[in-house]
Amino acid sequence: MRGFVSRHLPILRFVTAFLRTRRLSRTLKTRADVEAWQAERITAWLRETVAAAPFYRGRRIEKLDDLPVVDKSVLMAAFEKFNRAGVTREEGWRAVESGRPPKGYSVGASTGTSGNRGLFVISHAERYEWLGVIVAKLLPGFPLEKARIALILPLNTALYGAVNRTGRLRLRFFDLRRGVATLTPEVVAFRPDTIIAPPTVLRWLAEHDRSLRPKRLFSSAEVLDPIDRDIVEARYDIRLREIYMATEGLLATSCAHGTLHLAEDVVHFELEPVPESDLVSPIVSDFTRETQAMARYRMNDLLRLKNDACLCGSPLRAVAEVVGRSDDIFVLSRAGGEGSIPVTPDVLRNAILNADRRIADFRLAQTGRRTLSLTLPKDLLAETVEAACAALSNLLRNMGAEARIAAVQQDLPPPTVKLRRVERRWRAEET
Ligand SMILES: [Zn+2]
Repeated sequence: MRGFVSRHLPILRFVTAFLRTRRLSRTLKTRADVEAWQAERITAWLRETVAAAPFYRGRRIEKLDDLPVVDKSVLMAAFEKFNRAGVTREEGWRAVESGRPPKGYSVGASTGTSGNRGLFVISHAERYEWLGVIVAKLLPGFPLEKARIALILPLNTALYGAVNRTGRLRLRFFDLRRGVATLTPEVVAFRPDTIIAPPTVLRWLAEHDRSLRPKRLFSSAEVLDPIDRDIVEARYDIRLREIYMATEGLLATSCAHGTLHLAEDVVHFELEPVPESDLVSPIVSDFTRETQAMARYRMNDLLRLKNDACLCGSPLRAVAEVVGRSDDIFVLSRAGGEGSIPVTPDVLRNAILNADRRIADFRLAQTGRRTLSLTLPKDLLAETVEAACAALSNLLRNMGAEARIAAVQQDLPPPTVKLRRVERRWRAEET
């Protein structure tokens, strides 16, 4: 199926990716099935894609382990060596800024703090591959049932604009950089039955709009916190499902039971334990990518795996929660001693939210080696603010960490670009 024709005719690529994904959802029944499928595909991919990337030239590559683990800094330092289109980093940024990519390709960038954004380049055929996989996973009734999908995301990667040609599927992209309030009337006029958006945007819609009637809601691009989930599910009376994706590709989607399963039919995951926590951090190899080699790429994300099997019976590993980013793990001073104590974002979030049920939003930042800044909405009572500070102090004391918490109350801004409720702004090397 990966012959000349499907590689060069994008719509065929969509169909083959769609049919393959549907077939695998039936035929992959055990872990052994998943591993056998991956082994077969990875062998071909190493030979055809990875070996063709200049970065890997001259290496003996027989198996995945023969490759070094790379991260964003390695990738961005030698961007042109990872893609067969020969796009340099400078050309990539120019293409993102001008909206004019090289012919036949799409170039996109991740959101992120300045200086820490990642680029990717994919062919049109790969765009359709991605879409075929995602439609097969998210829309069980397609193509018998039509779908109108609104994608509200903070980056316009042409990735999403692909398939408005088939009459069964309408897909419209809404660029979140224009602001959620501006977009809302347009989203309403589009009458989507499926909305894919960051959880804070879904929550904003739930709190500000009365006319949308979606049948399917997917949270994407940000950590899904329980406070947002509850409000969205209560308003629309449907289960909020998740899509975990990044410039690194499609990484996981929720099944009908609401469990987030890794997309192991298209991506190979190595899951590294994160010290002093029950979390893991993924190293991904996307064996559907052809233009840019995404091989043993270390991601910045923190996941908590789900230990019990999902009722859907899928052999794809399940994620209980995407917790946040590893560079948002707080690094705090050990009380009365040397060294530091890491505290993961989920632990901090839970301490704040469990302190008082009236807390429906917050921002917490590490601003110095021993200082935290907690921002809470203006309308909360002083006793709630005190309870949140006390809960945080208790948590840190129990962990043996030392920090001063400065609390402020102000209006929290509406969602725009990627929200991190728990954010480490301080870096050890800066002092
Ligand atoms: Zn499941």
